[in-house]
Amino acid sequence: MCEKCFKKEHENFPSSKDFEEFQSDFDQLDETNFQHVRNGNFKFYYNEFECENCNEIWWISKPDNGWRGYCLKKDNAIAYIQKLQKQDQNARIACILLVLFVLIFIVCKL
Ligand SMILES: [Zn+2]
Repeated sequence: MCEKCFKKEHENFPSSKDFEEFQSDFDQLDETNFQHVRNGNFKFYYNEFECENCNEIWWISKPDNGWRGYCLKKDNAIAYIQKLQKQDQNARIACILLVLFVLIFIVCKL
């Protein structure tokens, strides 16, 4: 990792204090080094930045209510969001199976 990039990746910011600390670290980095590329929305809203020193692309998503945000390299951010989507999908399937099970139980009792 280059010395002008973020020191580490964050899969989330557990508390608002964690995000404030991250923001103050971001402010201390050489602002001219990070080029804001674009805003995007991939399940959640994010800002895309490019490090001018090493050309690494970073996605930063701010925490918002239940969403805890992240600061990840682009490829890792995409993999992370896909993992979250898969977990959501599995939870939905488990919920449907539970409802089906309860319905079958009720029908069998009648
Ligand atoms: Zn860099």
